Amino acid sequence: MSDQFIIALDQGTTSSRAVLFNHEAELLDVSQEEFTQHFPKPGWVEHDANEIWQSQFGVLQKLVAKNQLTPIHIAAIGITNQRETTVVWDKNTGEPVYNAIVWQDRRTAARCDEIAAAGWKNKIQEKTGLVIDAYFSASKVEWILNNVDGAKEKAQAGDLLFGTIDAWVIWKLTEGKVHATDPSNAARTMLLNINTGKWDNELLDLFGIPMNMLPEVRDSSGDFGDVEFQGKTVPITGVAGDQQAALFGQTCFDKGMAKNTYGTGCFMLMNTGAERVDSQSGLLSTIAWSINGKITYALEGSVFIAGAAVQWLRDELEFIESASDSETLALKANPESDVVVVPAFAGLGAPHWDMYARGAIFGLTRDSGRPEIAKATLQSLAYQVFDVLCAMENDSGIELSQLNVDGGAIANDFLAQFQADVLQKPVTRPKVLESTALGAAYLAGLKVGYWDWEDLSKVRDVEREFAPMLSVEKIEVLLKRWHKAVDRSKQWIDSDE
Ligand code: ADP
Repeated sequence: MSDQFIIALDQGTTSSRAVLFNHEAELLDVSQEEFTQHFPKPGWVEHDANEIWQSQFGVLQKLVAKNQLTPIHIAAIGITNQRETTVVWDKNTGEPVYNAIVWQDRRTAARCDEIAAAGWKNKIQEKTGLVIDAYFSASKVEWILNNVDGAKEKAQAGDLLFGTIDAWVIWKLTEGKVHATDPSNAARTMLLNINTGKWDNELLDLFGIPMNMLPEVRDSSGDFGDVEFQGKTVPITGVAGDQQAALFGQTCFDKGMAKNTYGTGCFMLMNTGAERVDSQSGLLSTIAWSINGKITYALEGSVFIAGAAVQWLRDELEFIESASDSETLALKANPESDVVVVPAFAGLGAPHWDMYARGAIFGLTRDSGRPEIAKATLQSLAYQVFDVLCAMENDSGIELSQLNVDGGAIANDFLAQFQADVLQKPVTRPKVLESTALGAAYLAGLKVGYWDWEDLSKVRDVEREFAPMLSVEKIEVLLKRWHKAVDRSKQWIDSDE
């Protein structure tokens, strides 16, 4: 066992990575390659599905070569991926019929409005746990079938396949033998009934998608076929969408446990156990994973602008040279400063939901300068996470005892400490911040017996725990000011602007 490893393939929005883990869940090596982002029209975002595949396979080969691995060394492969991004390909030629339409792509927004206006809102929420939005795969598949010459006919004849990125990568890795996905990815298509874990005929009809295009839904810790190399095979046994994989990688195995990822935006997921929980505040209900045929559900809330606000400090305001300098600058701020930054650059998400809000800086005085604005910007990440967490606690009726964190921006100690202060709960930061890849590795390793549940509950290595240091009274004052600032940022632009 000790000379065997698990490889996680992490197919992200901007790069493909292959990550090598050992039995102690230590990250031994990473290969990474960026690929091209295509913006054919305003609001459209595409990837070349072949380039995704080539970069993903390329980094796997690089990792294997660099570490002189043979198939015997690799116990299993796990896959995690950017979610919702949609690929349609010809099963006879293996060629995509159109570029992959990326989750960020807004081309089908009007179509989604039309579906909502036709009265589908409650039914879709009930079946899929989602709000009707162009973000999810269903309207993207419909767009491809309606706009690519001959696609509709080919789909009806059974010649086309649809997949989210996991299914595309699995199909390529198994040389067309396996067309499958897992429930955490399938739940993001807006075509899966998350109550049953099965594709929904009524929704397929609504979007004009033939059932025979769809991948088979298998357990997240399950059998997804084999990769052949050097004349031997390595099994693919773990698959999950990136945020759900991160929840698993943070060992949030039990109901009521949650993680928050601080990247460009923030994604918070809470394990809600065997029952789905419906939100009163616009959070999504989704599938976390399925293991041994048993579905575990999650609540999901996102903050649009988090690390992106730090990029704004760096690139637009030119206050800092690198994102990590934000910490040193914030520490120079006058402790008495009352500056509040609301980074509503793209409106506000859960639980405020105001598309017409815009960013603002409040509380400026003659002595407010770069340090005060940098500090307020970092604080705004923590405040936004507080708001999502409160919504989650209200919806689920579960009070969190601590928050597990990961993602690039939480390397910032000032932010991590302030987050613990605002939440008045410990914030625990693991040694391996790559929770996404780790989650895919865990799912894969569990299936082949490389790890068992007991191993996994022991391996999470906390690098540092931040305990709350500011008093409740002080935090209440700060939160009151934050919410006042949020209220004043709302409805800034007119809906017809
Ligand atoms: P993504 O996966 O969304 O690209 P990452 O997890 O790689 O995001 O994190 C990158 C984001 O975190 C960037 O928006 C960057 O501005 C921010 N960031 C990175 N390091 C720091 C830091 N030390 N302090 C604050 N923000 C940071």
